[in-house]
Amino acid sequence: MFDKLKPDFTFGSYIEVTPEFLAEQGIKALLIDIDNTLAPYEQAEPDEKLFAWFSSLEENGIKAALISNNKTERVELFNKDLKLPAYPDAHKPCKKTLLIALGELGMDTKHTAVMGDQLFTDAYGGKHIGMRAIIVPPIKDKKTLFFRFKRALEKPIMKSYYREKNKNCEK
Ligand SMILES: [Mg+2]
Repeated sequence: MFDKLKPDFTFGSYIEVTPEFLAEQGIKALLIDIDNTLAPYEQAEPDEKLFAWFSSLEENGIKAALISNNKTERVELFNKDLKLPAYPDAHKPCKKTLLIALGELGMDTKHTAVMGDQLFTDAYGGKHIGMRAIIVPPIKDKKTLFFRFKRALEKPIMKSYYREKNKNCEK
């Protein structure tokens, strides 16, 4: 179970996930979370940096879809000018919407990664159906009790991930 929560890759921000890196890893499509991965909750529309990042993916033949547990209005407004395949109300980590998105992109799990800020929804959602997971730290955490509780649970898992990562570096 813990293995399925561990990210395959972590980055400081979505912007560090480059087409070159994705190509090296054989990742041809990304299913991307919105809230706290690409923008904070209160940011309704993408900024210039985000448009540039999505263009660089497109120019390099990387497919992208937005997959969010947030509601339709939020996702539609955010996607108004991006015009990506978008899946609101996705109920991650449930696999149903992830698999629909995968099918509509014409991709398989082996060449697709989920990208998000949460281990229990984004990482687990992708990993338990065989995709890889790219995790970035949340842009701005919601300081509710529930989120603090989830973060506390995630801490030991992230610790063990970094411990293993360091072990590999020592080899
Ligand atoms: Mg998120």
